[in-house]
Amino acid sequence: MSQRRIVIVGNSAAGLAALEAVRRVDNTSPVTLVADEAIPAYSRVLLPYLVSGERLDLSLRPAGYAERMRARLLLGRRAVGIGADALELDDGSRLSFDRLLVATGSKAAVPNVEGIAMPGVSALKTMADALRIRNELPRVRHAVILGGGLICLLTVHALLKLRVSVTIAVSSDRLLTRMLDQEAAAILQRRLTDAGVRILTRTDAARIVGSNGRVRSVLTAAGEALPADLVILAKGIRPDIELARAGGLATGRGVLVDEYMRTSRPDVFAAGDCAEAPDMLLRGKTTIPGTWFEAVAQGEIAGANMVGVFRPSPGAFKMNVMEILGIAVSSMGMIDPPESDGRVVVGARDGNYRKLVLARDRIVGAVLVGDVSEAGPIAAMIRRGVRLAERRPLDPSQPIRYADLAVKWGSKAHDAEAFLLK
Ligand SMILES: Cc1cc2nc3c(=O)[nH]c(=O)nc-3n(C[C@H](O)[C@H](O)[C@H](O)COP(=O)(O)OP(=O)(O)OC[C@H]3O[C@@H](n4cnc5c(N)ncnc54)[C@H](O)[C@@H]3O)c2cc1C
Repeated sequence: MSQRRIVIVGNSAAGLAALEAVRRVDNTSPVTLVADEAIPAYSRVLLPYLVSGERLDLSLRPAGYAERMRARLLLGRRAVGIGADALELDDGSRLSFDRLLVATGSKAAVPNVEGIAMPGVSALKTMADALRIRNELPRVRHAVILGGGLICLLTVHALLKLRVSVTIAVSSDRLLTRMLDQEAAAILQRRLTDAGVRILTRTDAARIVGSNGRVRSVLTAAGEALPADLVILAKGIRPDIELARAGGLATGRGVLVDEYMRTSRPDVFAAGDCAEAPDMLLRGKTTIPGTWFEAVAQGEIAGANMVGVFRPSPGAFKMNVMEILGIAVSSMGMIDPPESDGRVVVGARDGNYRKLVLARDRIVGAVLVGDVSEAGPIAAMIRRGVRLAERRPLDPSQPIRYADLAVKWGSKAHDAEAFLLK
């Protein structure tokens, strides 16, 4: 196999998955991995647990990992441009490449509100954010979270553990709008309210008010002053496409890629939160799932293709399983049925909620609250486009188990399970 000079920008889910995919088939090509954070790779998913003090070590890989991977790590260096055959770094140096991966992830969306830059106002996106918030905590009694997405809910858990009173203000009519429908969100909101969290829906911040150089309150558009010693910005993410733009790659909301994770330049690939990839379920549409699982899956595809394996992605697929204050929640694919040929199968019992979204006789999405034991087999069915009537008919109102899939695929069901648990 001929050697290729490979450069990866990003030391997180997508970048590391790509590096490992490269080494699975190519032990000799020189690989350099660059990241602007000057610390070893860590799990962003665990940042709320660093804030609460439940986890202090968030390392993703053990010491000596780069040597074992025979990769050169350049940490604390920012990539600022992409030339004809070299990546340009902020210190003026250049890294020549035959294949480049842009895995620059995403940044927190920052609302345009007066006072947003005040001390005590922070996103929770990086290790630096988490450490800053942790330092603030001894003087924090009241926190306001702006936004009701995934990061909001994980942060609530951390703040309640620390006995901080929490108010969530969201512009929309419910929490987790991209993951949950009304019924599922209502179960979760009841649980949060029972735990003492105040939830204000259809509420926008008009101004963040401070005194003595620190945040003191959030003034809502309706004129209410919410006491706040800490304000967390959790209004979603923005794909980090700065480098891709500087390098002249085609971008939309993210870096546009095809099913091989190739950008508009055939020698440059993109994966993870920064990439806008073909959607698995909506033909002709693109999507940015913004999840760890998908960043790893895309990184693996990109890595393999950078060394000539020629493996297409099945398409970007959004799936999440999480626990919020003791309630397990899973959401995947489409949470509302497609207009033309969709229908839903809904069941609610004893605080559990289950909604399957179907298009003709295929499952295309699900929302599960409480019992999420079906999440794996349902995801496997969606990913493989299995029809309910295939071989032995499946009743969507009954729980779906891996055993049902084994009937349909034989041992392939176990492959699917291994893949999903990876
Ligand atoms: C608090 C929190 C909780 C989360 N919880 C979950 C969860 O429960 N489940 C889930 O699926 N997802 C969760 N996520 C989302 C998940 O973390 C992301 O989807 C995932 O990290 C994306 O990985 P990535 O490799 O694409 O990018 P990122 O993890 O964002 O990493 C980007 C990398 O690029 C580097 N970089 C960026 N620009 C440059 C540049 N110009 N030059 C050099 N280096 C650069 C950065 O240093 C970093 O190494 C959570 C995220 C947060 C913040």
